[in-house]
Amino acid sequence: MNWFKRITKGILTAPNERKDVPAGLWHSCEQCRTITFAKEHRNNLSVCMHCGHYDRMSAPAYFEALFDKDTYKSLFENIKPIDRLQFNDTKSYKKRLLQTQSQTGLDDAMLVAHGTINGKALVIAAMDFRFIGGSMGSVVGEKIARAIDFCLAQSQPLLIISQSGGARMMESAFSLMQMAKTAAKLAQLADAKIPYISLMTNPTTGGVTASFAMLGDINLAEPKALIGFAGPRVIKETIKKDLPEGFQTSEFLMQHGFLDLIVPRHELKTTVAQLLGYFAN
Ligand SMILES: [Zn+2]
Repeated sequence: MNWFKRITKGILTAPNERKDVPAGLWHSCEQCRTITFAKEHRNNLSVCMHCGHYDRMSAPAYFEALFDKDTYKSLFENIKPIDRLQFNDTKSYKKRLLQTQSQTGLDDAMLVAHGTINGKALVIAAMDFRFIGGSMGSVVGEKIARAIDFCLAQSQPLLIISQSGGARMMESAFSLMQMAKTAAKLAQLADAKIPYISLMTNPTTGGVTASFAMLGDINLAEPKALIGFAGPRVIKETIKKDLPEGFQTSEFLMQHGFLDLIVPRHELKTTVAQLLGYFAN
């Protein structure tokens, strides 16, 4: 028996009333779903104030967080990617580049800047995941090469912040060549006895892990970051074995001797400055 009967048709919620909340004002945590002011979340270095979950930070946000106030200058801003192979997947690479550039305001997946950090000179090359998954194409390789030339000329140490899905398939072999190029340039830096610190953030995978990210004089990582070469599914299918718990996390890599230190984001500036101090001595 029906106890309740709808007597008015079409009772509607009013979707227009929701428009008062401007987009980007609130942040909902991916892990615990707690809602906070987006600005407060950003001020807390994009770490959730309730559960400690790390959101990805953009390259400019790392510059702001690490360099001393108003001390840093951008380098090599006019290097732009080109579609050398006229590559097409679900859309043309040319179109993908233009779209991503207008969405992110970035030219490619890496920014370089120099400045001071607690008074010590440093060059930082930071990847940005927003640009085609932080993939490594020719521009990323070229910017690292030029950053290293700058470090050599100025005798300044280098920090590379990795955040990448790996090589950029739309640049095919040109992308893979960046592994050799960056490794060779880092060897020049090592010959000149100039320190290179690598920071791996979530995620650092593929050709980036297999080249410059793992070549630091000191290899640092953020907590709970995914760091690996091939994805866990591919490995599992290849070796036909279950993978151990926590496989490919910073903590797992630290236990197995692949990392020197896991650094919480709030301690990153102090830690890098301390390391630069040790190297300077
Ligand atoms: Zn949370």
